[in-house]
Amino acid sequence: MKRYSVFAVAREALRYHSGWERAWRSPEPKRHYDVIIVGAGGHGLATAYYLGKNFGITNVAVIEKGWLGGGNTGRNTTIIRSNYLQDPSAAIYEKARSLYETMSQDLNYNVMFSPRGVLMLAQTQHEIRGYKRTAHANALQGVSTEFVSPERVKEIVPIINLDGPRYPVLGALWQERGGTARHDAVAWGYARACSDMGMDIIQQCEVQGVRVVNGRVAGVDTTKGPIDCDKLGMVVAGNASVLAEQAGFRLPMESVALQALVSEPIKPCMDVVVMANTVHGYMSQSDKGEMVIGGGTDGFNNYTQRGSFHHIEETVRALNETFPMVSRLKMLRQWGGIVDVTGDRSPIISKTPVGNTFVNCGWGTGGFKAIPGSGWAMAELMATGHSPLTEEFSVDRFKEGKFIDESVAAGVAH
Ligand SMILES: Cc1cc2nc3c(=O)[nH]c(=O)nc-3n(C[C@H](O)[C@H](O)[C@H](O)COP(=O)(O)OP(=O)(O)OC[C@H]3O[C@@H](n4cnc5c(N)ncnc54)[C@H](O)[C@@H]3O)c2cc1C
Repeated sequence: MKRYSVFAVAREALRYHSGWERAWRSPEPKRHYDVIIVGAGGHGLATAYYLGKNFGITNVAVIEKGWLGGGNTGRNTTIIRSNYLQDPSAAIYEKARSLYETMSQDLNYNVMFSPRGVLMLAQTQHEIRGYKRTAHANALQGVSTEFVSPERVKEIVPIINLDGPRYPVLGALWQERGGTARHDAVAWGYARACSDMGMDIIQQCEVQGVRVVNGRVAGVDTTKGPIDCDKLGMVVAGNASVLAEQAGFRLPMESVALQALVSEPIKPCMDVVVMANTVHGYMSQSDKGEMVIGGGTDGFNNYTQRGSFHHIEETVRALNETFPMVSRLKMLRQWGGIVDVTGDRSPIISKTPVGNTFVNCGWGTGGFKAIPGSGWAMAELMATGHSPLTEEFSVDRFKEGKFIDESVAAGVAH
């Protein structure tokens, strides 16, 4: 793989960009791989990348039914933060956030990580208590956050309206090194690095069956034929229960649509991410100038990757209170993705009842930020059978009642 650099850009500019290579190969599947990862979203690709980088396992296929990054990874609003309450969550999300800091250099691909700061507004007494508690927990976990006053909020975001008609802003949980990154670039950067290590990324290939022999995985049946493997990783977000059923087990998870929208581009007016979880709306400004806006999930289970009008109304109404300038904006696009929600709002990264088969799902509305940490941990679990970062996220916690309750950090917030 040719390295991207300022010199490469200058050289290609001089020869009409005729020398760029394809970023990744598109091979036909082989008959057998050491590891198959189903799902070429950020989590699947990151798992493959760290299998190669940290454990030297490169006879790997990543199988994707659509195009890579076309699931939730390419549909999310890219908020990155690690201000969760429980210790296992803080550990994995902070690992991910810290990997984002150097991801562009690591992958030789500009993922546009922008640690611009994330504010989570407290708009009720209950939220103040909840976020102060999180700030104290974060201090013990080594995650840098603080609870700030309404005056400080106004300094950070001058366009905010502190005295909303329903809920005033009473303070906020502030994570200065939280922020955003370019979602497609994260998927493309990992894909390019995986392909460079000799892994096969097989797009437009749906897994339709999981072959199990004597309790262990033997391979998968796909729209491009059967493919054998020694180990299988299921990393398919909202489709996780469908795939698990093909392998003969069930997952404690629901699939619901989560929607987002963007406005027309405007001049820079807000250089942080603001989440208003009581009124159900959040917003940041993209590098192109669009206001990137999101709200809550649909109230019913479904698999439609689409937006709906009632959500636009609800979300924009919420943001109008917090940012009255939103009422003057035209909205450009709206879309949806199917998110995988567990009862305790924490992910599942786990062995399964089928031998040599592993599952990574349940990231719900907030898994973009976790991609590098989750891939790191899932690769370790698949390669060695154990990862300190995944121990508490086993699917068995639902049998044992050892929930990792993140409903405050992840119920609405992304
Ligand atoms: C509107 C919206 C806003 C969001 N905002 C944020 C945010 O601001 N911050 C944040 O951290 N998170 C956010 N999220 C959540 C985040 O996007 C997801 O948690 C994360 O992208 C999940 O990544 P993934 O790799 O697990 O799944 P995906 O990216 O969905 O990848 C799974 C892939 O598996 C493929 N697949 C499924 N079934 C099969 C099969 N049978 N065979 C082959 N391939 C299959 C799918 O096509 C898909 O490409 C948001 C999500 C949405 C929808």
